[in-house]
Amino acid sequence: MALFALRYGEGSDPIERQSPGEGAVRVLVVEDDRDLNRQLVSALTDAGYAVDAAFDGEEGYFLGETEPYDLVILDTGLPKMDGISVLEQWRRAERKMPVIILTARDRWSDKVTGMDAGADDYVAKPFHMEELLARIRAQVRRASGHAKSDLECGPLRLDTKTARVTLSGQPVKLTSHEYRLLAYLMHHNERVVSRTELVEHLYEQDFDRDSNTIEVFIGRLRKKIPPEMIKTIRGLGYRLSQEADDN
Ligand code: CA
Repeated sequence: MALFALRYGEGSDPIERQSPGEGAVRVLVVEDDRDLNRQLVSALTDAGYAVDAAFDGEEGYFLGETEPYDLVILDTGLPKMDGISVLEQWRRAERKMPVIILTARDRWSDKVTGMDAGADDYVAKPFHMEELLARIRAQVRRASGHAKSDLECGPLRLDTKTARVTLSGQPVKLTSHEYRLLAYLMHHNERVVSRTELVEHLYEQDFDRDSNTIEVFIGRLRKKIPPEMIKTIRGLGYRLSQEADDN
């Protein structure tokens, strides 16, 4: 097996320390698209991670089997061994590191198979690097046991462990769809989230994917929390903001 691991980030000063504890967080990127692989390695390195890169399934499998990674970014479509098989074999071998799979947007079945195979999260291509980085941070936090389960935005507080939401200390009753929507917005606090992204990340495939459905849920949420907190950004989506102004 042609095995080569390119290691980046060692000896360089991390711009932003991602780990809540000591030491660098080590990430493996398994992606056969060389351009994307390079972009991922570069973005992760800039974010302060120590990054190894593999370009096919066998190489990736071997590295994940032998090296202590804190997290793996795993493409599903890989030469020599597909990503799902790689993941299944790791899990069978009790390799428990968090794995975020990269799936093709139109291959929804990959997400299902991937999550069933033991993926912790997925990102559909094409994706925004910022989103992947946020998902990585969440996984690293969770895995490190320093998980901050409370999300806060102004008077709103959401405990992801108990799925409880309070507004100025008073409980807010939400349906599961409303809860997931609010949790996503709170995770992405102060950023514009598109309807497509919400549909893509919140709801299962057989859910009515008409984006009007999202509007309906947004409307319901606005009745339960201060409505001005969820701003509609025309043509772009929504932004949850603690500022109650109208900018
Ligand atoms: Ca691929």
